Amino acid sequence: MPGRTLLCVPITAETGEAAILDMYKAEEVADIVELRLDYIHELDLGRLLAHKPLPVIATCRPVSERGRFSGEESSRLSLLRDACRLGADFVDIELEAWSHFKAQGKSKRIISYHNFKETPANLEDIVKRLDSADADIIKIATMAGSISDNLAIFDLLKKSQRPMIALCMGEDGLISRILAPKFGSFLTFASLSEGQESAPGQIPAAQLKSLYRFDEINEETEIYGVIGNPIAHSMSPAIHNAAFDRLGLNKVYLPFKVEDVVKFVESFKAIGVKGYSVTIPHKEGVLAALDEVDELAQKIGAVNTVLEREGRLFGYNTDSSAAIFSLEPALGESPEGTALSGKRVVVLGAGGAARAVVFALSEKGAKVTILNRTVERAKRLAQEVGAKWGPLSDISKMKMDVLVNATSVGMYPEVDETPVSKEIFRPGLVVFDMVYNPLETRLLREAKEAGCECITGLEMFVEQAKEQFELWTGKDAPTDLMRQVVLECLGEK
Ligand code: NAP
Repeated sequence: MPGRTLLCVPITAETGEAAILDMYKAEEVADIVELRLDYIHELDLGRLLAHKPLPVIATCRPVSERGRFSGEESSRLSLLRDACRLGADFVDIELEAWSHFKAQGKSKRIISYHNFKETPANLEDIVKRLDSADADIIKIATMAGSISDNLAIFDLLKKSQRPMIALCMGEDGLISRILAPKFGSFLTFASLSEGQESAPGQIPAAQLKSLYRFDEINEETEIYGVIGNPIAHSMSPAIHNAAFDRLGLNKVYLPFKVEDVVKFVESFKAIGVKGYSVTIPHKEGVLAALDEVDELAQKIGAVNTVLEREGRLFGYNTDSSAAIFSLEPALGESPEGTALSGKRVVVLGAGGAARAVVFALSEKGAKVTILNRTVERAKRLAQEVGAKWGPLSDISKMKMDVLVNATSVGMYPEVDETPVSKEIFRPGLVVFDMVYNPLETRLLREAKEAGCECITGLEMFVEQAKEQFELWTGKDAPTDLMRQVVLECLGEK
Protein backbone atom coordinates (compact mmCIF):
# COMPACT_ATOMS: atom_id res chain seq x y z
CA MET A 1 0.00 0.00 0.00
CA PRO A 2 1.63 3.29 -1.00
CA GLY A 3 1.75 6.23 1.42
CA ARG A 4 2.78 6.64 5.02
CA THR A 5 0.67 5.06 7.76
CA LEU A 6 -1.36 7.78 9.46
CA LEU A 7 -1.60 8.24 13.20
CA CYS A 8 -5.27 8.57 14.12
CA VAL A 9 -6.42 9.87 17.51
CA PRO A 10 -10.01 9.01 18.47
CA ILE A 11 -11.89 11.92 19.99
CA THR A 12 -13.93 10.58 22.90
CA ALA A 13 -15.13 13.87 24.41
CA GLU A 14 -18.76 14.02 25.54
CA THR A 15 -19.58 17.57 24.42
CA GLY A 16 -19.06 19.34 21.12
CA GLU A 17 -16.92 22.08 22.69
CA ALA A 18 -14.64 19.53 24.41
CA ALA A 19 -14.39 17.59 21.15
CA ILE A 20 -13.24 20.74 19.31
CA LEU A 21 -10.64 21.42 22.01
CA ASP A 22 -9.43 17.82 21.84
CA MET A 23 -9.13 17.97 18.05
CA TYR A 24 -6.81 20.96 18.43
CA LYS A 25 -4.78 19.12 21.08
CA ALA A 26 -4.62 16.08 18.79
CA GLU A 27 -3.21 18.24 16.01
CA GLU A 28 0.15 18.21 17.84
CA VAL A 29 0.53 14.44 17.56
CA ALA A 30 -1.94 13.10 15.00
CA ASP A 31 -2.40 13.13 11.22
CA ILE A 32 -6.13 12.48 11.45
CA VAL A 33 -8.83 12.20 14.13
CA GLU A 34 -11.76 9.86 14.49
CA LEU A 35 -14.77 11.75 15.79
CA ARG A 36 -16.80 9.36 17.89
CA LEU A 37 -20.18 10.96 17.31
CA ASP A 38 -21.84 8.38 19.56
CA TYR A 39 -19.98 9.87 22.57
CA ILE A 40 -21.19 13.44 22.08
CA HIS A 41 -24.38 14.76 23.75
CA GLU A 42 -26.43 17.48 22.02
CA LEU A 43 -24.40 17.15 18.88
CA ASP A 44 -24.02 20.17 16.54
CA LEU A 45 -22.39 18.34 13.66
CA GLY A 46 -22.07 21.39 11.42
CA ARG A 47 -20.19 23.40 14.06
CA LEU A 48 -17.97 20.44 14.93
CA LEU A 49 -16.93 19.75 11.35
CA ALA A 50 -16.52 23.46 10.57
CA HIS A 51 -13.84 23.59 13.32
CA LYS A 52 -11.84 20.52 12.38
CA PRO A 53 -8.10 21.31 12.27
CA LEU A 54 -7.30 17.87 10.83
CA PRO A 55 -8.92 15.36 8.48
CA VAL A 56 -11.79 13.63 10.23
CA ILE A 57 -13.23 10.12 10.24
CA ALA A 58 -16.88 10.29 11.29
CA THR A 59 -17.87 7.22 13.30
CA CYS A 60 -21.03 6.51 15.24
CA ARG A 61 -20.99 3.09 16.85
CA PRO A 62 -24.20 1.48 18.01
CA VAL A 63 -24.35 -0.24 21.41
CA SER A 64 -24.17 -3.61 19.62
CA GLU A 65 -20.65 -2.64 18.43
CA ARG A 66 -19.56 -1.49 21.91
CA GLY A 67 -20.49 2.09 21.03
CA ARG A 68 -22.85 4.46 22.84
CA PHE A 69 -25.49 5.17 20.19
CA SER A 70 -28.76 3.65 21.38
CA GLY A 71 -31.24 5.26 18.96
CA GLU A 72 -32.85 3.93 15.78
CA GLU A 73 -30.52 2.50 13.14
CA SER A 74 -32.08 4.80 10.53
CA SER A 75 -31.20 7.87 12.68
CA ARG A 76 -27.64 6.63 13.07
CA LEU A 77 -27.15 6.18 9.34
CA SER A 78 -28.78 9.54 8.67
CA LEU A 79 -26.29 11.16 11.09
CA LEU A 80 -23.42 9.59 9.19
CA ARG A 81 -24.88 10.79 5.88
CA ASP A 82 -25.06 14.31 7.38
CA ALA A 83 -21.39 13.99 8.36
CA CYS A 84 -20.53 13.20 4.72
CA ARG A 85 -22.55 16.16 3.49
CA LEU A 86 -20.97 18.51 6.06
CA GLY A 87 -17.42 17.69 5.07
CA ALA A 88 -16.15 14.66 7.04
CA ASP A 89 -13.15 13.35 5.11
CA PHE A 90 -13.96 9.72 5.89
CA VAL A 91 -16.99 7.92 7.19
CA ASP A 92 -16.86 4.54 8.93
CA ILE A 93 -19.70 2.10 8.28
CA GLU A 94 -19.88 -1.32 9.90
CA LEU A 95 -20.05 -4.35 7.61
CA GLU A 96 -23.55 -5.21 8.84
CA ALA A 97 -24.85 -1.71 8.05
CA TRP A 98 -23.10 -1.27 4.71
CA SER A 99 -25.94 -2.29 2.41
CA HIS A 100 -28.28 0.23 4.11
CA PHE A 101 -25.96 3.18 3.75
CA LYS A 102 -26.12 5.48 0.76
CA ALA A 103 -23.25 7.95 0.79
CA GLN A 104 -23.64 11.63 0.04
CA GLY A 105 -20.80 14.09 -0.56
CA LYS A 106 -17.15 13.33 -1.15
CA SER A 107 -16.24 11.45 2.02
CA LYS A 108 -14.20 8.33 1.53
CA ARG A 109 -15.93 5.27 2.95
CA ILE A 110 -14.35 2.84 5.41
CA ILE A 111 -16.10 -0.50 5.79
CA SER A 112 -15.33 -1.96 9.21
CA TYR A 113 -15.47 -5.27 11.05
CA HIS A 114 -14.91 -5.46 14.82
CA ASN A 115 -14.69 -8.50 17.02
CA PHE A 116 -14.27 -7.69 20.71
CA LYS A 117 -14.12 -11.34 21.77
CA GLU A 118 -11.42 -12.93 19.64
CA THR A 119 -9.38 -13.00 16.46
CA PRO A 120 -11.48 -15.53 14.55
CA ALA A 121 -9.98 -18.25 12.40
CA ASN A 122 -12.03 -17.20 9.33
CA LEU A 123 -10.42 -13.77 8.87
CA GLU A 124 -9.87 -14.40 5.16
CA ASP A 125 -13.61 -14.98 4.65
CA ILE A 126 -14.39 -11.78 6.49
CA VAL A 127 -11.94 -9.90 4.27
CA LYS A 128 -13.67 -11.35 1.20
CA ARG A 129 -16.98 -9.97 2.43
CA LEU A 130 -15.42 -6.57 3.13
CA ASP A 131 -13.65 -6.64 -0.21
CA SER A 132 -16.86 -7.26 -2.13
CA ALA A 133 -18.28 -3.92 -0.95
CA ASP A 134 -17.20 -0.90 -2.96
CA ALA A 135 -15.53 0.82 0.01
CA ASP A 136 -12.39 2.94 -0.26
CA ILE A 137 -10.77 1.39 2.81
CA ILE A 138 -11.25 -1.90 4.65
CA LYS A 139 -10.94 -2.02 8.42
CA ILE A 140 -10.56 -5.11 10.63
CA ALA A 141 -10.09 -4.88 14.41
CA THR A 142 -10.13 -8.08 16.45
CA MET A 143 -9.34 -8.91 20.06
CA ALA A 144 -5.98 -10.62 20.54
CA GLY A 145 -6.26 -13.73 22.70
CA SER A 146 -2.50 -14.13 22.55
CA ILE A 147 0.49 -12.45 20.94
CA SER A 148 0.31 -14.87 17.99
CA ASP A 149 -3.00 -13.38 16.83
CA ASN A 150 -1.04 -10.38 15.57
CA LEU A 151 0.56 -12.61 12.93
CA ALA A 152 -2.83 -13.21 11.28
CA ILE A 153 -3.36 -9.45 11.11
CA PHE A 154 0.10 -8.84 9.62
CA ASP A 155 -0.65 -11.50 7.05
CA LEU A 156 -3.86 -9.76 5.97
CA LEU A 157 -2.02 -6.46 5.61
CA LYS A 158 0.75 -8.05 3.53
CA LYS A 159 -1.76 -9.65 1.16
CA SER A 160 -4.20 -6.78 0.85
CA GLN A 161 -4.53 -5.20 -2.60
CA ARG A 162 -6.56 -2.31 -1.19
CA PRO A 163 -5.98 0.28 1.52
CA MET A 164 -6.58 -1.56 4.78
CA ILE A 165 -6.64 -0.78 8.49
CA ALA A 166 -5.96 -3.97 10.44
CA LEU A 167 -5.14 -4.31 14.10
CA CYS A 168 -5.50 -6.44 17.20
CA MET A 169 -7.09 -4.97 20.31
CA GLY A 170 -6.17 -5.62 23.94
CA GLU A 171 -2.79 -5.76 25.70
CA ASP A 172 -1.66 -8.61 23.46
CA GLY A 173 -2.43 -6.56 20.36
CA LEU A 174 -0.08 -3.68 21.13
CA ILE A 175 2.53 -4.77 18.60
CA SER A 176 0.00 -4.58 15.75
CA ARG A 177 -0.58 -0.92 16.58
CA ILE A 178 3.15 -0.16 16.72
CA LEU A 179 4.10 -2.13 13.61
CA ALA A 180 1.25 -0.75 11.46
CA PRO A 181 3.73 1.20 9.26
CA LYS A 182 5.92 -1.86 8.73
CA PHE A 183 3.05 -3.93 7.35
CA GLY A 184 1.31 -1.08 5.55
CA SER A 185 -1.83 -0.40 7.56
CA PHE A 186 -3.58 2.74 6.30
CA LEU A 187 -3.59 4.09 9.85
CA THR A 188 -3.08 3.16 13.48
CA PHE A 189 -5.05 4.41 16.47
CA ALA A 190 -3.51 5.97 19.57
CA SER A 191 -5.26 7.84 22.37
CA LEU A 192 -4.94 11.54 23.07
CA SER A 193 -3.88 10.67 26.62
CA GLU A 194 -4.27 7.84 29.11
CA GLY A 195 -7.98 7.39 29.88
CA GLN A 196 -9.13 8.69 26.48
CA GLU A 197 -8.99 5.37 24.66
CA SER A 198 -11.87 4.37 22.39
CA ALA A 199 -10.85 0.69 22.30
CA PRO A 200 -8.79 -1.66 24.51
CA GLY A 201 -5.05 -1.61 23.94
CA GLN A 202 -4.64 1.91 22.58
CA ILE A 203 -1.63 3.68 24.06
CA PRO A 204 -1.15 7.45 24.15
CA ALA A 205 0.00 8.91 20.83
CA ALA A 206 2.90 10.71 22.51
CA GLN A 207 4.14 7.36 23.87
CA LEU A 208 3.78 5.67 20.49
CA LYS A 209 5.95 8.39 18.99
CA SER A 210 8.56 8.81 21.72
CA LEU A 211 8.96 5.31 23.17
CA TYR A 212 8.41 3.31 19.97
CA ARG A 213 9.60 5.94 17.44
CA PHE A 214 6.43 5.47 15.39
CA ASP A 215 7.40 8.13 12.85
CA GLU A 216 10.60 6.25 11.96
CA ILE A 217 8.98 2.85 11.40
CA ASN A 218 8.69 1.71 7.80
CA GLU A 219 8.74 -1.47 5.73
CA GLU A 220 12.50 -1.91 6.29
CA THR A 221 12.42 -1.53 10.08
CA GLU A 222 14.01 -4.48 11.88
CA ILE A 223 12.14 -5.97 14.82
CA TYR A 224 13.66 -6.75 18.23
CA GLY A 225 11.98 -7.29 21.57
CA VAL A 226 11.85 -8.76 25.03
CA ILE A 227 10.12 -12.08 25.72
CA GLY A 228 8.68 -12.46 29.23
CA ASN A 229 5.54 -12.76 31.30
CA PRO A 230 4.52 -10.37 32.73
CA ILE A 231 6.20 -7.80 30.50
CA ALA A 232 4.17 -4.58 30.63
CA HIS A 233 6.55 -2.92 33.13
CA SER A 234 9.81 -3.97 31.50
CA MET A 235 12.29 -1.13 31.11
CA SER A 236 14.00 -2.84 28.17
CA PRO A 237 11.87 -1.21 25.41
CA ALA A 238 12.73 2.25 26.77
CA ILE A 239 16.46 1.43 26.97
CA HIS A 240 16.90 -0.24 23.59
CA ASN A 241 14.63 2.08 21.60
CA ALA A 242 16.49 5.08 23.01
CA ALA A 243 19.80 3.44 22.04
CA PHE A 244 18.56 2.61 18.51
CA ASP A 245 17.42 6.21 18.19
CA ARG A 246 20.77 7.62 19.36
CA LEU A 247 22.59 5.61 16.71
CA GLY A 248 20.00 6.36 14.03
CA LEU A 249 19.26 2.65 13.48
CA ASN A 250 16.11 1.57 11.66
CA LYS A 251 15.13 -0.88 14.39
CA VAL A 252 12.29 -1.08 16.89
CA TYR A 253 12.17 -2.97 20.19
CA LEU A 254 8.85 -4.36 21.44
CA PRO A 255 7.45 -6.07 24.54
CA PHE A 256 6.30 -9.66 23.85
CA LYS A 257 4.08 -11.20 26.53
CA VAL A 258 4.58 -14.88 25.88
CA GLU A 259 3.10 -18.05 27.39
CA ASP A 260 4.75 -20.74 25.28
CA VAL A 261 8.22 -19.54 24.36
CA VAL A 262 9.12 -22.27 21.87
CA LYS A 263 5.87 -21.87 19.95
CA PHE A 264 6.27 -18.10 19.99
CA VAL A 265 9.84 -18.05 18.68
CA GLU A 266 8.95 -20.53 15.96
CA SER A 267 5.88 -18.64 14.75
CA PHE A 268 7.49 -15.19 14.90
CA LYS A 269 10.13 -16.28 12.40
CA ALA A 270 7.38 -15.34 9.92
CA ILE A 271 8.03 -11.64 10.56
CA GLY A 272 11.80 -11.95 10.70
CA VAL A 273 12.52 -10.83 14.29
CA LYS A 274 16.27 -10.06 14.43
CA GLY A 275 16.88 -10.40 18.17
CA TYR A 276 15.35 -10.99 21.56
CA SER A 277 16.06 -10.23 25.17
CA VAL A 278 14.66 -13.02 27.32
CA THR A 279 13.45 -12.55 30.86
CA ILE A 280 11.48 -14.31 33.62
CA PRO A 281 10.15 -17.00 33.20
CA HIS A 282 11.61 -17.97 29.79
CA LYS A 283 15.41 -17.83 30.16
CA GLU A 284 15.66 -21.61 30.45
CA GLY A 285 12.76 -22.64 28.21
CA VAL A 286 13.99 -20.61 25.26
CA LEU A 287 17.02 -22.89 24.74
CA ALA A 288 14.79 -25.48 23.07
CA ALA A 289 13.87 -22.95 20.36
CA LEU A 290 17.44 -22.08 19.36
CA ASP A 291 19.78 -23.46 16.68
CA GLU A 292 22.98 -22.79 18.61
CA VAL A 293 23.76 -21.83 22.18
CA ASP A 294 27.03 -20.28 23.28
CA GLU A 295 29.14 -22.56 25.52
CA LEU A 296 28.77 -20.53 28.72
CA ALA A 297 25.02 -20.06 28.24
CA GLN A 298 24.76 -23.81 27.65
CA LYS A 299 26.55 -24.52 30.94
CA ILE A 300 24.44 -21.97 32.80
CA GLY A 301 21.36 -23.46 31.20
CA ALA A 302 19.87 -20.01 30.63
CA VAL A 303 19.82 -17.59 27.71
CA ASN A 304 18.93 -13.92 28.05
CA THR A 305 19.91 -12.83 24.52
CA VAL A 306 18.94 -14.24 21.13
CA LEU A 307 20.43 -13.14 17.84
CA GLU A 308 19.12 -14.08 14.41
CA ARG A 309 21.70 -14.51 11.65
CA GLU A 310 20.87 -15.90 8.20
CA GLY A 311 17.75 -17.57 9.50
CA ARG A 312 19.48 -19.26 12.43
CA LEU A 313 18.93 -18.35 16.08
CA PHE A 314 21.90 -18.05 18.45
CA GLY A 315 21.63 -17.86 22.26
CA TYR A 316 23.90 -16.02 24.70
CA ASN A 317 23.93 -15.11 28.37
CA THR A 318 25.02 -11.54 29.02
CA ASP A 319 23.87 -11.60 32.68
CA SER A 320 26.95 -13.61 33.51
CA SER A 321 29.63 -11.23 32.24
CA ALA A 322 27.56 -8.24 33.35
CA ALA A 323 27.50 -9.52 36.96
CA ILE A 324 31.30 -9.85 36.99
CA PHE A 325 31.66 -6.47 35.29
CA SER A 326 29.83 -4.75 38.13
CA LEU A 327 31.46 -6.79 40.91
CA GLU A 328 35.16 -6.68 40.00
CA PRO A 329 35.85 -2.94 40.35
CA ALA A 330 34.90 -3.12 44.05
CA LEU A 331 37.46 -5.85 44.75
CA GLY A 332 40.71 -4.37 43.54
CA GLU A 333 43.65 -6.51 42.49
CA SER A 334 44.37 -9.97 43.82
CA PRO A 335 47.82 -11.55 44.08
CA GLU A 336 46.36 -14.61 42.37
CA GLY A 337 45.34 -12.83 39.20
CA THR A 338 41.78 -11.63 38.79
CA ALA A 339 40.09 -9.60 41.49
CA LEU A 340 37.83 -12.51 42.32
CA SER A 341 40.27 -15.38 42.53
CA GLY A 342 40.49 -16.81 46.01
CA LYS A 343 37.68 -14.57 47.29
CA ARG A 344 35.01 -16.18 49.49
CA VAL A 345 31.73 -15.37 47.80
CA VAL A 346 28.32 -16.28 49.17
CA VAL A 347 25.53 -16.26 46.59
CA LEU A 348 21.95 -16.12 47.83
CA GLY A 349 19.57 -17.82 45.40
CA ALA A 350 19.74 -20.64 42.87
CA GLY A 351 17.51 -19.35 40.07
CA GLY A 352 18.51 -18.02 36.65
CA ALA A 353 20.46 -14.98 37.88
CA ALA A 354 22.28 -17.05 40.49
CA ARG A 355 23.27 -19.63 37.88
CA ALA A 356 24.66 -16.89 35.65
CA VAL A 357 26.82 -15.37 38.38
CA VAL A 358 27.90 -18.67 39.97
CA PHE A 359 29.36 -20.07 36.73
CA ALA A 360 31.24 -16.83 36.08
CA LEU A 361 32.53 -16.66 39.66
CA SER A 362 33.81 -20.22 39.47
CA GLU A 363 35.59 -19.46 36.21
CA LYS A 364 37.25 -16.51 37.96
CA GLY A 365 38.52 -18.77 40.74
CA ALA A 366 36.26 -17.52 43.54
CA LYS A 367 35.35 -19.85 46.43
CA VAL A 368 31.60 -19.97 46.11
CA THR A 369 28.90 -21.00 48.59
CA ILE A 370 25.29 -21.07 47.42
CA LEU A 371 22.51 -20.56 49.95
CA ASN A 372 18.93 -20.92 48.84
CA ARG A 373 15.43 -21.22 50.25
CA THR A 374 15.06 -24.51 48.38
CA VAL A 375 18.23 -26.25 49.50
CA GLU A 376 17.96 -29.03 46.92
CA ARG A 377 18.20 -26.44 44.14
CA ALA A 378 21.31 -24.89 45.76
CA LYS A 379 22.87 -28.36 46.03
CA ARG A 380 22.25 -29.15 42.36
CA LEU A 381 23.85 -25.92 41.20
CA ALA A 382 26.73 -26.21 43.66
CA GLN A 383 27.53 -29.72 42.42
CA GLU A 384 27.69 -28.49 38.84
CA VAL A 385 30.42 -25.97 39.65
CA GLY A 386 32.16 -27.54 42.64
CA ALA A 387 30.78 -25.02 45.17
CA LYS A 388 29.41 -25.45 48.71
CA TRP A 389 25.74 -25.09 49.52
CA GLY A 390 23.24 -24.70 52.33
CA PRO A 391 19.98 -23.12 53.48
CA LEU A 392 19.62 -19.35 53.75
CA SER A 393 19.85 -19.64 57.54
CA ASP A 394 23.53 -20.70 57.20
CA ILE A 395 24.38 -17.10 56.41
CA SER A 396 25.10 -16.34 60.08
CA LYS A 397 27.96 -18.92 60.05
CA MET A 398 29.61 -17.69 56.86
CA LYS A 399 33.07 -16.21 56.62
CA MET A 400 32.94 -14.19 53.42
CA ASP A 401 34.49 -11.37 51.42
CA VAL A 402 31.54 -10.87 49.11
CA LEU A 403 27.78 -11.38 49.45
CA VAL A 404 25.68 -11.53 46.29
CA ASN A 405 21.89 -11.40 46.45
CA ALA A 406 20.57 -13.26 43.42
CA THR A 407 17.13 -13.88 44.92
CA SER A 408 14.21 -11.66 44.03
CA VAL A 409 13.67 -10.78 47.70
CA GLY A 410 13.43 -7.00 48.18
CA MET A 411 12.33 -6.37 44.60
CA TYR A 412 9.45 -3.97 43.90
CA PRO A 413 6.72 -4.09 45.22
CA GLU A 414 8.02 -6.12 48.22
CA VAL A 415 10.54 -3.40 49.07
CA ASP A 416 10.44 -3.99 52.85
CA GLU A 417 11.69 -7.56 52.48
CA THR A 418 15.32 -8.63 52.84
CA PRO A 419 16.85 -12.10 52.41
CA VAL A 420 19.22 -11.91 55.43
CA SER A 421 19.30 -10.24 58.84
CA LYS A 422 21.43 -7.10 59.20
CA GLU A 423 23.46 -8.68 62.03
CA ILE A 424 25.66 -10.43 59.46
CA PHE A 425 27.11 -7.21 58.05
CA ARG A 426 30.52 -5.90 59.01
CA PRO A 427 32.72 -3.14 57.60
CA GLY A 428 34.68 -4.11 54.51
CA LEU A 429 32.25 -6.77 53.27
CA VAL A 430 31.29 -6.22 49.61
CA VAL A 431 27.53 -6.57 49.14
CA PHE A 432 26.11 -6.82 45.62
CA ASP A 433 22.35 -6.85 45.19
CA MET A 434 21.28 -7.85 41.69
CA VAL A 435 17.81 -6.44 42.31
CA TYR A 436 17.66 -3.06 40.53
CA ASN A 437 14.13 -2.00 41.33
CA PRO A 438 14.46 -0.28 43.76
CA LEU A 439 18.10 0.68 43.36
CA GLU A 440 18.64 0.89 47.09
CA THR A 441 17.06 -2.24 48.50
CA ARG A 442 16.58 -2.80 52.20
CA LEU A 443 19.53 -5.22 52.04
CA LEU A 444 21.84 -2.53 50.63
CA ARG A 445 20.55 0.16 53.01
CA GLU A 446 21.32 -2.01 56.04
CA ALA A 447 24.67 -3.12 54.60
CA LYS A 448 25.65 0.50 53.98
CA GLU A 449 24.72 1.49 57.53
CA ALA A 450 27.05 -1.26 58.78
CA GLY A 451 29.97 0.05 56.72
CA CYS A 452 29.87 -2.49 53.86
CA GLU A 453 30.82 -1.60 50.31
CA CYS A 454 27.59 -1.72 48.30
CA ILE A 455 26.91 -2.41 44.63
CA THR A 456 23.43 -1.91 43.22
CA GLY A 457 21.92 -3.93 40.36
CA LEU A 458 22.05 -0.86 38.07
CA GLU A 459 25.46 -1.39 36.46
CA MET A 460 24.74 -5.06 35.82
CA PHE A 461 21.43 -4.19 34.25
CA VAL A 462 22.99 -1.55 32.00
CA GLU A 463 25.92 -3.82 31.12
CA GLN A 464 23.77 -6.83 30.15
CA ALA A 465 21.69 -4.53 27.92
CA LYS A 466 24.85 -2.98 26.44
CA GLU A 467 26.22 -6.41 25.56
CA GLN A 468 22.90 -7.38 23.96
CA PHE A 469 22.87 -4.21 21.92
CA GLU A 470 26.42 -4.83 20.70
CA LEU A 471 25.67 -8.43 19.75
CA TRP A 472 22.69 -7.28 17.69
CA THR A 473 24.17 -4.22 16.04
CA GLY A 474 27.95 -4.73 16.04
CA LYS A 475 28.19 -1.11 17.24
CA ASP A 476 29.25 0.46 20.55
CA ALA A 477 26.23 0.92 22.77
CA PRO A 478 25.49 4.39 24.19
CA THR A 479 25.82 3.23 27.81
CA ASP A 480 25.47 6.67 29.42
CA LEU A 481 22.15 7.13 27.66
CA MET A 482 21.02 3.62 28.61
CA ARG A 483 21.89 4.25 32.28
CA GLN A 484 20.04 7.57 32.18
CA VAL A 485 16.94 5.88 30.74
CA VAL A 486 16.96 3.22 33.47
CA LEU A 487 17.27 5.90 36.14
CA GLU A 488 14.40 7.86 34.58
CA CYS A 489 12.22 4.73 34.44
CA LEU A 490 12.98 3.93 38.08
CA GLY A 491 12.34 7.53 39.12
CA GLU A 492 8.85 7.35 37.67
CA LYS A 493 7.84 4.33 39.69
P1 NAP B 1 14.32 -16.79 39.52
O1 NAP B 1 14.95 -17.68 38.52
O2 NAP B 1 12.83 -16.77 39.64
O3 NAP B 1 14.95 -17.13 40.94
C1 NAP B 1 14.47 -16.52 42.11
C2 NAP B 1 15.37 -16.89 43.30
O4 NAP B 1 14.89 -16.13 44.42
C3 NAP B 1 15.29 -18.36 43.68
O5 NAP B 1 16.53 -18.75 44.20
C4 NAP B 1 14.22 -18.35 44.78
O6 NAP B 1 14.37 -19.41 45.71
C5 NAP B 1 14.54 -17.05 45.47
N1 NAP B 1 13.38 -16.53 46.18
C6 NAP B 1 12.26 -16.03 45.63
N2 NAP B 1 11.42 -15.62 46.60
C7 NAP B 1 12.03 -15.89 47.79
C8 NAP B 1 11.67 -15.69 49.15
N3 NAP B 1 10.50 -15.14 49.48
N4 NAP B 1 12.54 -16.03 50.09
C9 NAP B 1 13.73 -16.58 49.76
N5 NAP B 1 14.14 -16.81 48.51
C10 NAP B 1 13.29 -16.45 47.52
O7 NAP B 1 14.71 -15.26 39.25
P2 NAP B 1 16.07 -14.72 38.61
O8 NAP B 1 15.94 -14.56 37.15
O9 NAP B 1 17.18 -15.55 39.13
O10 NAP B 1 16.13 -13.25 39.22
C11 NAP B 1 16.43 -13.03 40.58
C12 NAP B 1 16.59 -11.53 40.83
O11 NAP B 1 17.73 -11.04 40.11
C13 NAP B 1 15.40 -10.70 40.35
O12 NAP B 1 15.14 -9.69 41.29
C14 NAP B 1 15.91 -10.08 39.06
O13 NAP B 1 15.28 -8.83 38.78
C15 NAP B 1 17.37 -9.89 39.38
N6 NAP B 1 18.18 -9.81 38.16
C16 NAP B 1 18.88 -8.67 37.97
C17 NAP B 1 19.65 -8.54 36.85
C18 NAP B 1 20.42 -7.27 36.64
O14 NAP B 1 20.81 -7.03 35.51
N7 NAP B 1 20.67 -6.48 37.66
C19 NAP B 1 19.72 -9.57 35.90
C20 NAP B 1 19.00 -10.75 36.14
C21 NAP B 1 18.23 -10.85 37.29
P3 NAP B 1 13.71 -20.85 45.45
O15 NAP B 1 14.69 -21.59 44.59
O16 NAP B 1 13.54 -21.41 46.79
O17 NAP B 1 12.40 -20.59 44.74
